[in-house]
Amino acid sequence: MNLKDKIVDYPNFPKKGILFRDFSPILKDPSALSYVADEFSKIFHTKDIDVFAGIESRGFILASILASRYNKGMIMIRKAGKLPGKTSKLAYTIEYGKDTIEIQKDIIKEGERVLICDDLLATGGTAKASAKLIEKVGGNIVGFAFIIELVDLNGIKGISKYNCKSLVKY
Ligand code: 5GP
Repeated sequence: MNLKDKIVDYPNFPKKGILFRDFSPILKDPSALSYVADEFSKIFHTKDIDVFAGIESRGFILASILASRYNKGMIMIRKAGKLPGKTSKLAYTIEYGKDTIEIQKDIIKEGERVLICDDLLATGGTAKASAKLIEKVGGNIVGFAFIIELVDLNGIKGISKYNCKSLVKY
């Protein structure tokens, strides 16, 4: 299956100068969803994973799809201020300023093996921060799953020590 055919480009969204790659048509198509899960299951094996972590917000979708396929659970890496209870936070630099991500403190047990999921890898800032946060709370990172990778932005650089897989490259 050619997933690229199911990704729609929107110039100047959400801001002028940004070309937004929208994977909504993949989500609408049951055979594309199965294909996505099939492709990742060739790379990442059930026996190596305890839980899937989704990065807010489109990463939640991929993490849930894969968790269901692998018969595992999923956890949420959220923007600050959205999770109840005790949390662990991590601030990181984005293109214009800073952002903070957060995870529930006791959601990962020491040594649990986590596969981090997001829809798209751009500069890699979000992915790298997510890895740091998971490790800060005691998780072991199995790797990263992305549907789309914007290769020219070289986001892979910050997470190259991990096993990373993206299905569509631009
Ligand atoms: P990074 O931190 O790698 O620069 O940005 C990645 C994050 O921004 C991801 O969480 C992703 O959802 C979002 N993102 C940036 N550009 C796009 C885009 O063109 N399409 C989609 N779907 N998400 C994007």
